[in-house]
Amino acid sequence: MNYHVNEKGFYGGFGGAYIPEMMYQNIEELREKYLDIMNSATFKTEFAQLLRNYVGRPSPLYYAKRMSAHYKTNIYIKREDLNHTGSHKINNTIGQILIARQLGKTRIIAETGAGQHGVATATVCALFGMKCVVYMGSLDVKRQMPNVLRMKMLGADVIPAESGNKTLKDATNEALRDWINNPLDTHYIIGSVVGPHPYPDMVARLQSVISEEIRWQLKEQTGREKPDYVIACVGGGSNAAGAFYHFLEADEVKLVGAEAAGLGVETGETAATLFVGSPGVLHSSLTMLMQTADGQIIEPYSISAGLDYPGIGPQHAYLHKTHRGIYQPVTDKEAVDAAFKLTKLEGIIPALESAHAFALLERIKFKPSDIVVMNLSGRGDKDMQTYIDLMKHEQTK
Ligand SMILES: *Cc1c(COP(=O)(O)O)cnc(C)c1O
Repeated sequence: MNYHVNEKGFYGGFGGAYIPEMMYQNIEELREKYLDIMNSATFKTEFAQLLRNYVGRPSPLYYAKRMSAHYKTNIYIKREDLNHTGSHKINNTIGQILIARQLGKTRIIAETGAGQHGVATATVCALFGMKCVVYMGSLDVKRQMPNVLRMKMLGADVIPAESGNKTLKDATNEALRDWINNPLDTHYIIGSVVGPHPYPDMVARLQSVISEEIRWQLKEQTGREKPDYVIACVGGGSNAAGAFYHFLEADEVKLVGAEAAGLGVETGETAATLFVGSPGVLHSSLTMLMQTADGQIIEPYSISAGLDYPGIGPQHAYLHKTHRGIYQPVTDKEAVDAAFKLTKLEGIIPALESAHAFALLERIKFKPSDIVVMNLSGRGDKDMQTYIDLMKHEQTK
């Protein structure tokens, strides 16, 4: 089986580039050049150096002793939370700004929901002295003020999107519109394995450093290169795509993704795209998405702002369809419980997104000999207010 993108940008029936004529020039330029750039010695050297000296890679692979004893198996945590800016998102923005520079671009645009991708983009723009414009739904601007202020301090213009529900999907539409109007000097840094070809493949390759490191780190620590399980949360799917990448062809490695079920898949207040969605085109890609019978996007819900996207990367839609990937919905409540458990057992406060992956430890029956790699996509600093409110709520019950 081939789980990678084909010539035309498809994973099985998913993916492609359903773009308006006016965007053809931008996408075509990127499609023609991204692999040559990424395979060039200059790019490889610079990317590796920045990941090492600026981001702080390799991120540790940590044997979680108390958690392993608790679940009676062997749990290794891949610490993407220790990266500069607090999550895996910086791997992608560093890579894309290097590609943008090779393409001769001087201006960067991005969309952001919770602000994590916006901050990672504003960070690399400061690092490279490039102009940066971040589109953000006006509702999210209000909800995520600390990240808005971070982006501004880093020198980015944050433009509130006032259309639709004023959240991530609307910000993405505004960013696409900007790109159509500025095809020559601007590169659009998409924050996940979504959007038109070649973005899903390009972002997965940039994030694949995660599984590349897992392989040699696991070998060093256990003598084995391949775990029995790799488990990650899935919003658009970039941290999962990176953690799965080098294990896709190894059928004995179970690849498990946690989707945000919100209040539960049956309640309608959910972001579990693969469970309530159907095929359709969102942001220029044919994938699974949450839509009404007449094709209107249904607004997703999750306690974690980073997972409430109404679509999912086309590669995950394909891995789900072919059963190479196992995807499970995880509710807000399960994720929160998992976050507190990880904190108490290992002294690690996770991002709410990442906590969705850890909730699956409750559900899967592991063997004592199994090696389980958990991708901890980000740290919990940004979610402290939510955690504090939950603790207050517990005390007053
Ligand atoms: C943005 C984000 C996610 C979700 O994005 P993916 O593309 O699915 O990885 C997950 N975890 C953290 C910490 C994030 O910031």
